Amino acid sequence: MHLQQLLQDMNIDVDTFPGGELEVRSPIDGKIISTVKAHSTHEVSEVIQLATEASQNWKLVPAPVRGELIRQFGNTLRQHKAALGRLVTLECGKIYQEGLGEVQEMIDICDFAQGLSRQLYGLTIVSERPGHKMLELWQPLGPVGIISAFNFPVAVWAWNAALAVICGNSIIWKPSEKTPITALVCQELFIRTCKQFEQAPDYLSQVIIGDATIGEQLVNDRRVPLISATGSCAMGKKVGTAVASRFGKSILELGGNNAVIVAPSADIDMAVRAIVFGAVGTAGQRCTTTRRLFLHASIYHDVISKLKKAYQSISIGNPLDENNLVGPLIDKQSYDAMQAAILKAEAVGGKVTGGKRVNQESFEHAYYVEPCLIEMPEAEKTIQTETFAPLLYIYPYTDLECAVALQNDVPQGLSSSIFTNDIRESELFISAMGSDCGIANINIGTSGAEIGGAFGGEKETGGGRESGSDAWKNYMRRMTSTTNYSRDLPLAQGIKFDL
Ligand code: NAD
Repeated sequence: MHLQQLLQDMNIDVDTFPGGELEVRSPIDGKIISTVKAHSTHEVSEVIQLATEASQNWKLVPAPVRGELIRQFGNTLRQHKAALGRLVTLECGKIYQEGLGEVQEMIDICDFAQGLSRQLYGLTIVSERPGHKMLELWQPLGPVGIISAFNFPVAVWAWNAALAVICGNSIIWKPSEKTPITALVCQELFIRTCKQFEQAPDYLSQVIIGDATIGEQLVNDRRVPLISATGSCAMGKKVGTAVASRFGKSILELGGNNAVIVAPSADIDMAVRAIVFGAVGTAGQRCTTTRRLFLHASIYHDVISKLKKAYQSISIGNPLDENNLVGPLIDKQSYDAMQAAILKAEAVGGKVTGGKRVNQESFEHAYYVEPCLIEMPEAEKTIQTETFAPLLYIYPYTDLECAVALQNDVPQGLSSSIFTNDIRESELFISAMGSDCGIANINIGTSGAEIGGAFGGEKETGGGRESGSDAWKNYMRRMTSTTNYSRDLPLAQGIKFDL
């Protein structure tokens, strides 16, 4: 499948993106599909200036009108769902069904944001002073910087963009250097929508292309009041510190080390299906991928044998072929990290099933791997790091409270789940004594969140929340306003200050 064909399908002129020094490879075969031009330091500074000016105009447009633009963008995405889904697959290697799912997530957040654009509400708060009232008001921030990772090349931007725009902000997107084309295409579709929309100012949305250096420039610029960054914990530590040092706001969506607990009362077949999807979906390259599994000793061998059977039936190969459920890893670096993690687990007595490279004859420069199960010795401390590959570490347990403690005993805190039909166990899991993660599911796996809930995690996952619920508040500035409609000027706390 050719990039040119996909661009044509979306009525995008191939010349829209001038080539440049940055090579873009498809993980499907490791070959170069295009080159793109990186932005210079000067150009990034100019982009930030233009975004600042755009935000001054956009914040004056009523929020429901801003929501209408996002509704129309959702329709543009509906028109091009199939082609954009394929492009996601071509550039980041996830299977086509997941590419389509990602575009659907963009459409869903547009619908959500449009509804929200009529509900950017604040509180009215009673005052301790007679003839007074207090209000909480929400104001736009200005340009919002969005830094995204390779594994959700379009949805993460849309989560941020749709909310930021209805909240009255302009947006600057720094996509992963591994997936710039999907970003340029989304930008093109957004601009196309804006051209039909009288109130949309020029430069409401812009993309900057480049590596971490370009990201750092965006992060360090005081004209950008909010940085929303998605990626590894290592990146988040740098970005979070840099933004805090200039008293900016940040939303950090970082790595996970997600676990499933399977209790004796669980519906085992359902649990196995959810574990397999969670562990091997997107070739183990989701932030919410299931990376650790705690199995009660009484069902340990049963679940392991069912998992092994399911893993053997998984077809691995070209993600555009709808018969395949697992596509390639993003690149060689990712493959090397996976192999190093397997060797490390073996060295401490881990029993490994799978994990080998496959399809090397057909795809010499691409990295397809068997998803891997690792039965860990009971005494071994639970794995502490996120290896971004389909590796599932399995541990037996006998006491649920100990399993929850082990689940929580990692630096990350993104997603978690329990399979049980015992209400005491499920309630414990989501109580204050339970999971310490931002996401805690019951009889559902760790991945595949809906956009209606707030998404994000605790500890080194960064603490940020995006998407549904009241995550919109992160994209606005809170203002408390007190009005005195009396003829007196009483002071709060009863302070006397008579002249
Ligand atoms: P990465 O950290 O290598 O890169 C992410 C983005 O950050 C890229 O655009 C990169 O150029 C930029 N970047 C890197 N260093 C920077 C710096 N110092 N300043 C500014 N920008 C910088 O991550 P990746 O390999 O693309 O993605 C995989 C990681 O992302 C995994 O850890 C995964 O768990 C995480 N992730 C988290 C979520 C979430 O919502 N929690 C979602 C998707 C991915």
